[in-house]
This record gives sequence, structure tokens and C-alpha cells, in this order.
Amino acid sequence: MVETRMIKAAICREFGAPLSIEEITVAPAGPGQVKVDVEACAICHSDIHFIDGAWGGRLPAVYGHEAAGTVAEVGDGVDNVAVGDRVVISLIRSCGSCPGCAKGMPVTCTGRFTIDKTRPLTDANGDSLVHGLKTAAFAEEAVVDASQVVKIPDEIPMTSAALLGCGVITGFGAVTNTAKIETGSDVAVIGCGGVGLNAVQGATIAGAAQVIAVDIADDKLAVAREFGATAGLSAAAPDMADQVRALTNGAGVDYVFVTVGAKSAIEQAFSLVAPCGAVVLVGMTATGVMIEVDATAIAGNSQRVLGSKMGAGRLPIDIPLLVSLYQDGRLKLDELVSKTYPIEEINGAIESVKRGEARRNVIVFGNQPGS
Ligand SMILES: [Zn+2]
Ligand SMILES: [Zn+2]
Repeated sequence: MVETRMIKAAICREFGAPLSIEEITVAPAGPGQVKVDVEACAICHSDIHFIDGAWGGRLPAVYGHEAAGTVAEVGDGVDNVAVGDRVVISLIRSCGSCPGCAKGMPVTCTGRFTIDKTRPLTDANGDSLVHGLKTAAFAEEAVVDASQVVKIPDEIPMTSAALLGCGVITGFGAVTNTAKIETGSDVAVIGCGGVGLNAVQGATIAGAAQVIAVDIADDKLAVAREFGATAGLSAAAPDMADQVRALTNGAGVDYVFVTVGAKSAIEQAFSLVAPCGAVVLVGMTATGVMIEVDATAIAGNSQRVLGSKMGAGRLPIDIPLLVSLYQDGRLKLDELVSKTYPIEEINGAIESVKRGEARRNVIVFGNQPGS
């Protein structure tokens, strides 16, 4: 039995306000759970949506869900990892038996988990904190269901491994799991941040003929070319759809991946897609955002609209695949890390993400064994 100790965490006490760095305790790993010494946790736009109150929810909460670290404790019945293992932590959680899990879609798992009832996080006053995004990894320790962790080899830096659990699997999996693009497809990716770059490299690895990156920022288009994009177009250009058609013999692309959660970007996607093509919605908008599309054009052109949550990821399959692609030098991970910050500077790191400066800003915890 490992003693609980006070650890540092970033707490959201008020939507839209800076996070508060405080000492908290994390309960020991219960049956079927794992406690991880967090060594790296990236800042994802989903964290920012929650911090800003775009998706509601209760407070105070600890967010952070794109993480990696070393297993410190395993609860009864855990057999996929052991103490000392280096792991990726994801918010994808699988009960294994609900309809979503049975379909091989754990991202839609509706199972019940004891960790949701036990409230594992407590602040210095003894008050309970919300276990945000089922993970709460903006903290030196995280306790999660065992299905949320996957062992990784020693060679991957923790800062790079952390990205696998959300940004990489979300962008890459949208291409390979959700859309299952055919070799030779023409693809457009709208938004070239952390998720978009992974859609770009996913499409490249999956054998796309053309990967057209679309973003409002020229510097992001340049980076997208480093990740495999064959062309980069400004999202702000009034003739952008014409430019896409000029690149595709007038047809448009077979797949458009919209990695930003913006109404305008989603609506723009429908002007780029070819007959029989698909628009894949990857980025999440704020709750309640509605889009307007030409329904006749979709039906008349036999087009599809696909939702892709977390890249339809299945951690025990996708994480080892992504790791092997990284080890083969085919998947860029280290290049996705813009900057690392200590937890005390998390608010500056978040502001930098909001300004659009970062591929991924990563919080690192320097006092962990083995880091
Ligand atoms: Zn995320
Ligand atoms: Zn389930």
C-alpha cells in the first residue's frame, strides 16, 4: 500500500479564470485502477474548452488528459500494466462489454466505472475535486481506469509519448479508423494545429495521393508540408474552393478532415469535397453550435458526413501501431512539441495555445523518479 501524499495540481475553480496551483491528494488505485506518476501532460483544446466553460460541467475540477508517466500503483485485478511501466494515459476508457465497446468503438463506451463514484481527488481543505476528462492529469499523479493506460517502450521521450493519448490518435485515427481512406485518395485537412498535423501525416502514411493543408496561418501551412502535405492553401482566400478544384481536376477532394471546432470551417469543408466524398468532423465545437449545409448537394452527390471522436481510437491496437511508426521514423512526434513548461507556468502555456502559437505545449513534472 502506497501512502497518499500531497502533490501539485492545477485546479479550475472558475470558468475563464487562470488555473490555481494547489496541493491536493489523489486516492490510491482501487480495483481495476492504476495510479501514474505523471511526467508530461500536453495542453489540448478540449482542456481549454472546459476551462473556458464552453462545455459546462461542475467545478472545481482538475483537467488534463493527454499524458504519459510511470505506473506507481496498480489496483486489484489489473493485468495490462505493472508498477514501473512507462505508459501513455488517455481519456479513452473501455468497460469491454457495453454496446459501444462490443462494436470496437470504446470512444462511445457507456459502461459504469467505480472511479466516477469514489471521487479520488481532494483539495487541501478536504473538499472533493472533479476528476476532469476522466483523467485529471494536470497534476503530479493521476489515477485512472486501467483501460486508459498502455505500456510504451523506453526510447520514446515522455513529452512525445503524452501526445499519443489524444492529439495524435485523434488526427491519425480520423484518417485510418473513421474514414479508412483508400490508397491514392485526395485529402484536404482544415486546421493545421496539433490534431490537423496528425491527420496530415496519417493521410500521408495511408497512401493519399494529395494532402492539401488549409489554415489561416502561413507558418502552419509551412509546418504541414514538413508533415507530408503536398500543398498549402490559405483558409482566408476567397477562391480557396476553386484552388482545391484546380488541384483535383475540377472534382474536389475525396476526404475533408475538419480539425477545428469552428462553424465556418465545417461549412467551408462542404465546398471542397468531391462527389462520393466524405466530410469528416474531427474538431469539437462548443455545445449547441449548428451548421448550415446544402442538403440537396449532399444527397445528389452521394456524399457522406462522418463524425470522428478521438479518432475512433482503440488504445491496445492504435498506441502500439503509432509507437512502431514512430520507431520506424515514419511518424513525427518529437516535432509536435513546441515548448515544455513546469506546472507553475501552466496559465502562460494555455495562453500561448490560445494565441495559436503552439503545436503542443507540454507540462512537465521534474520531481518524478526516472524523469
Ligand atoms: Zn484532447
Ligand atoms: Zn464500454
